[in-house]
Amino acid sequence: MKIAVLPGDGIGTEIVDEAVKVLKVLDLKFEMETADVGGVAYDRHGHPLPEATLKLAKEADAVLFGAVGDWKYDQLERKFRPEQAILGLRKNLGLFANFRPAICYEQLTHASSLKPELVAGLDILIIRELTGDIYFGQPRGRRTSPDGNFPGAEEAFDTMRYARPEIERIAHVAFQAARKRNKKVTSVDKANVLETFQFWKDVVTEVGQQYPDVKLDHMYVDNAAMQLVKSPKSFDVVVTGNMFGDILSDEAAMLTGSIGMLPSASLNASNQGLYEPSHGSAPDIAGKGIANPLATILSAAMMLRFSLNQPQAADRIESAVKDVLSQGLRTADIWSEGTRKVGTREMGDAVVAAITTKTITKS
Ligand code: NAD
Repeated sequence: MKIAVLPGDGIGTEIVDEAVKVLKVLDLKFEMETADVGGVAYDRHGHPLPEATLKLAKEADAVLFGAVGDWKYDQLERKFRPEQAILGLRKNLGLFANFRPAICYEQLTHASSLKPELVAGLDILIIRELTGDIYFGQPRGRRTSPDGNFPGAEEAFDTMRYARPEIERIAHVAFQAARKRNKKVTSVDKANVLETFQFWKDVVTEVGQQYPDVKLDHMYVDNAAMQLVKSPKSFDVVVTGNMFGDILSDEAAMLTGSIGMLPSASLNASNQGLYEPSHGSAPDIAGKGIANPLATILSAAMMLRFSLNQPQAADRIESAVKDVLSQGLRTADIWSEGTRKVGTREMGDAVVAAITTKTITKS
């Protein structure tokens, strides 16, 4: 098994170092190879996704990704911006299903912006389609408006598109994931206004007939945004398109207290995947040693479960994370009165210690 390790920019290197440390202590047989991606790759090789990095990612069974981006690259031509590396990896690896679990750890319920009783025990999974929608549809661009409300005015436009196979495959992923959970899928759309999402709803309903054991609901995106803050625990698996998924998964992330706690996985049809924290490169805290590494460590656990077929090792990491939270250790983003504030490295060390202590106790 081979893991491509792509730390990237900002806090990327700091948090990935901790996840690598945790992976090493598990004593599993895999090879890890590191490469540049994002702004650092642009600085060193003239491109955010150099050929050698892409080759490594394609050859690997899984990619462990930190984060990319920095304000200093904002003036670059779009194709050279760090964020293009993620889009390039998604496209070249055929990653179409983005898994974003939103779990509220018992020890962190007070860190949520919602009342503890609304989020205690929260465990939902948002599945976002990654290849279609308004992000990639052609035509797009700027022009002089030929018609509409302001003919002759300058305008910009994008195209929302979904093909049947694109919807079918993400729907299967959602129903299969729900089978391993509480057997409920909520498909989020805007079928009342958009043709694309009426089609989405029709296709998801058809696919759902193959999963009679899973309950399927449909919800408009505006209502879903509201329900996520009103009664988040009413969801189990949420499946939606690229743009609605982008927004709703960040909303769900905040329910859990900190974006620093949330892992994510993006998978292709053969379960090869890219695993990364849900947050970005946090240039405001980069280099200070205070970033929360738990989202990246939990992403490594998802990698072991989904791409490397090591569910027990994944369980060990997740249980070690719960242990360190129970010990009262907190990075600054999740710190509260009565808990002990630790830095990035100390948090990684504590997870490693929790894993090794359990291993020693067991044997
Ligand atoms: P961000 O997620 O990097 O940061 C948002 C806020 O959350 C900041 O205050 C930051 O300090 C905090 N934060 C994020 N991760 C944290 C962690 N692990 N521990 C503690 N605090 C944490 O989002 P942003 O500031 O909007 O974007 C910064 C850069 O990251 C931009 O260049 C953006 O394009 C890029 N970005 C990259 C990715 C990615 O690599 N997948 C995703 C989102 C944003």
